[in-house]
Amino acid sequence: MTTVDLPLLPLGRGRDLGSERGVDCPGDLPPASDPDLVARARAARDALGDRAFVLGHHYQRDEVIQFADVTGDSFKLAREAAARPDAEYIVFCGVHFMAESADILTGDHQQVVLPDLAAGCSMADMARLRQVEDAWDALGAAGVAESVVPVTYMNSSADIKAFCGRHDGVVCTSSNAKRALDWAFASKDGTAAPDAMPTKVLFLPDQHLGRNTAVLEMGFSLDDCVVWDPHRPGGGLTEQELRDARVILWKGHCSVHGRFSAEVGRELRRTLPGVQLLVHPECRHEVVLEADLVGSTEFIINTVRAAPPGSIWAIGTELNLVRRLAAEHPEQQITFLDKTVCYCSTMNRIDLPHLVWALESLVAGTVVNRISVDADTEHWARVALERMLALPGV
Ligand code: SF4
Repeated sequence: MTTVDLPLLPLGRGRDLGSERGVDCPGDLPPASDPDLVARARAARDALGDRAFVLGHHYQRDEVIQFADVTGDSFKLAREAAARPDAEYIVFCGVHFMAESADILTGDHQQVVLPDLAAGCSMADMARLRQVEDAWDALGAAGVAESVVPVTYMNSSADIKAFCGRHDGVVCTSSNAKRALDWAFASKDGTAAPDAMPTKVLFLPDQHLGRNTAVLEMGFSLDDCVVWDPHRPGGGLTEQELRDARVILWKGHCSVHGRFSAEVGRELRRTLPGVQLLVHPECRHEVVLEADLVGSTEFIINTVRAAPPGSIWAIGTELNLVRRLAAEHPEQQITFLDKTVCYCSTMNRIDLPHLVWALESLVAGTVVNRISVDADTEHWARVALERMLALPGV
């Protein structure tokens, strides 16, 4: 099976395979109203025993996360999957790119299942391989490709990770983006011609993580960064702008974290004395500038766990996680850094009916919704992932 090119499928279940590929379940999906769903999930989980390992992303619904053998962010979960070589089935309650990463890092004898194939990631979908290859060709035509190192965020499809592997680039997470960029900028030292232009980074697909890391952690200026728009000829940039840039940011963003605003943060400071703003680096630059603390999902969780009673937080990350933290820490005051509901709609496609369907199918001997990355893509994506794993401190 080859890598599946899934479109973003935010709109319910459908039968138009031309526009909603992967949405239909080839079997009987239990109705959400079935009062026995929890019992059915538990029975199927027990029947599978150690043959299955269930991973749950932090942004997942409570009804699903209760069945996870381990919870974590995308990178932690991929590593957890790789550490379970005896599990025949990895059931990934997350989104498509995460299941791909698990397939890349697990053995050929293991099968990775995504309970709903429509659980994609809007950010990952913003960088398609053909678009990135076109951008690379344009960088070559502008005479800068030889100075560019591609770096992709974990939240990208396997073929984008493979692109970075093939072009001497690396994968990063929100925890190690600075280390990956340090590595990228230094990677051409000693090999570039003496008159070569300074090394540049093409950062995919999240412009905000790239900008926040380059400017706030590495000392680049906003003027050192340009944004490549894949929907405009030449990325919307002149050749001179490409030559002058140090960081070429792909025009992608997270539809959840992109919603937070600095204005709401300032308003909360007025109405909630003592509040600390704790946000994810996928938030826009002005939000991160307004924040007290910035870090990955794991950082946010660990910060709240370590905080003293009475701490007051406004947290800028996915709402399922913020609500769970608030429930786990009644001794603290935890609010959401947005006035409206802000779930990851695609992550939420994995619901209890889909989990029950996937687990019961495995019990019956049928592997449904398998995510399998083709061998060549897997090889090069693994090259880029292993470069990240070799970074100091990772
Ligand atoms: S929260 Fe954002 S980056 Fe994460 S899976 Fe959802 S859309 Fe993608």
